[in-house]
Amino acid sequence: MIVDSFFSIALLAATLTIEIRQPVDDQKAAELTEWVQTTADTIELVYGRFPNPKAKIIVIPSSENSWGSDAPVIFGRVTRRDGETVELFVDPERPIEDFYTDWTATHEFSHLMMPLLSQRYRWISEGFATYYQNILMSRAQRYTPELAWQRLSEGFVRGQESRPDLSPNAAAAGGIRHARMKVYWSGAAIALKADITLRQRSNGAESLDRVLGQLQACCLPSGRRWSGPQLFKKLDTFIESPVFMPLYRKYADEEGFPDIARLLSDLGIETNQDGTVSLDDGKTLASIRKAISDPQ
Ligand SMILES: [Zn+2]
Repeated sequence: MIVDSFFSIALLAATLTIEIRQPVDDQKAAELTEWVQTTADTIELVYGRFPNPKAKIIVIPSSENSWGSDAPVIFGRVTRRDGETVELFVDPERPIEDFYTDWTATHEFSHLMMPLLSQRYRWISEGFATYYQNILMSRAQRYTPELAWQRLSEGFVRGQESRPDLSPNAAAAGGIRHARMKVYWSGAAIALKADITLRQRSNGAESLDRVLGQLQACCLPSGRRWSGPQLFKKLDTFIESPVFMPLYRKYADEEGFPDIARLLSDLGIETNQDGTVSLDDGKTLASIRKAISDPQ
């Protein structure tokens, strides 16, 4: 494949290499580069810098759309063979505006906030990326907060319905294809629970954002594969008293789905009859919800 354009984008403390592959005309290459940069800026809303200052982003036109997706970003993945590379397979025929409301790049970039985990613990990497993809789209004003919480609420329902006979560890160990919604959404529910606990008990001094920033400062990018307990024990070293290992012990090997109905209600997230979400600022945790998802 011919390599067409290389761009080096200077973020605050990062120099990302962006490669746009052929065939893409010059104007679309420039538009796609600006979109990648904007999405990378969005990740900086978590802790003020991009998680891997030397990450490489490759945008690959994929006209055949063999994945059956009708999204502008057809598929994305992170590879870690030779440094960290994010590959984004895109439909270059789509107008650039469509890319800005597509979540895939935000999801893939969010993966860089965590090290590679062994397969059994993929619910953590997929879940935390799924949580962040939604709240970051809202912080960056590409979703309304209502839409972000609607997507999260709908996902939690899909997760509850997916393989209730399996624990998160068992679902991930069996392969993401067989219990995809269970893997993604049980992990997202645990990310939400951790974030709320941290913010609530500390009056906002602690948060998942902060903890992940400390993880990056100490340990990322990491050249090795981590287990779930190794990662959660490390996250617990950054906070006053453990949050992550208690969640792990409660849910990682438990069938069913983490209980979040009460939490969503306390956050002021109400699902209407037509499936949309209304936000109630009068609920006990409404200010925490706003801190998580309001535009920044
Ligand atoms: Zn993912």
